[in-house]
Amino acid sequence: MSTLEIRDLQVAVEDKEILRGVNLTVRAGETHAIMGPNGSGKSTLAYAIAGHPKYTITGGQVLLDGVDLLELGVDERARAGLFLAMQYPVEVPGVSVSNFLRSAVTAVRGEAPKLREFAKDLKAGMDALSIDPAFAQRNLNEGFSGGEKKRHEILQLELLKPKIAVLDETDSGLDVDALRVVSEGINRFRATGETGVLLITHYTRILRYVKPDFVHVFAGGRIVEEGGPELADKLEAEGYEAYTKASA
Ligand code: ADP
Ligand code: MG
Ligand code: MG
Repeated sequence: MSTLEIRDLQVAVEDKEILRGVNLTVRAGETHAIMGPNGSGKSTLAYAIAGHPKYTITGGQVLLDGVDLLELGVDERARAGLFLAMQYPVEVPGVSVSNFLRSAVTAVRGEAPKLREFAKDLKAGMDALSIDPAFAQRNLNEGFSGGEKKRHEILQLELLKPKIAVLDETDSGLDVDALRVVSEGINRFRATGETGVLLITHYTRILRYVKPDFVHVFAGGRIVEEGGPELADKLEAEGYEAYTKASA
């Protein structure tokens, strides 16, 4: 069983200190929600873990089963079992969804999946997410609607089977139907018990469908309160105001 351990993580962007000592442990089978106001550093946490070059680590460690991810290249992190669904996925003209997914599976496994097996898994994943079969031949993220982008992220999860999945605002921009399909996908995936999920969100809406085991409130670049799912209900009722005042 895998464990992600974030220890006193400090991160700067363009010489500005953003994360000011984040401590968090996520085990396989657990779902942790990170909630916080805009600009509190939630995406910075996701990008720093994933290895985005703009985010400078100024202190701390991020251990996946004891291996410090911060010392690995971006592709090595993916091979180690880390998956990041970005808040704003990039468009890649000339690369089809199907080719992208097969390359991603190949990169993570270290060998190409058999075509027939991959086609079967891809079809099963797309069916489960109510994705039109024609979608597989479209260019990656090009002209995707908000809902299509998010379904595609969950499809990646199902095919890549990471040890730790970081989902950054997977709920933003979804209508209720898409939110339900995406949430069901996350629930199906986490039911395997083999993946730890870090669900980053601004709104409590998705947490009605995906029940977190733990909720962490983020403000001013650190975790300022922690609790169980009831904390999300409190945030829904009271908002973030109390935290933003305290961290200012
Ligand atoms: P959140 O995801 O919680 O809304 P972010 O991590 O996106 O917060 O942003 C935290 C802070 O870091 C903000 O003040 C934002 O302006 C700054 N920041 C994040 N990324 C960059 C970047 N690439 N360049 C400059 N500033 C950034
Ligand atoms: Mg934001
Ligand atoms: Mg963000």
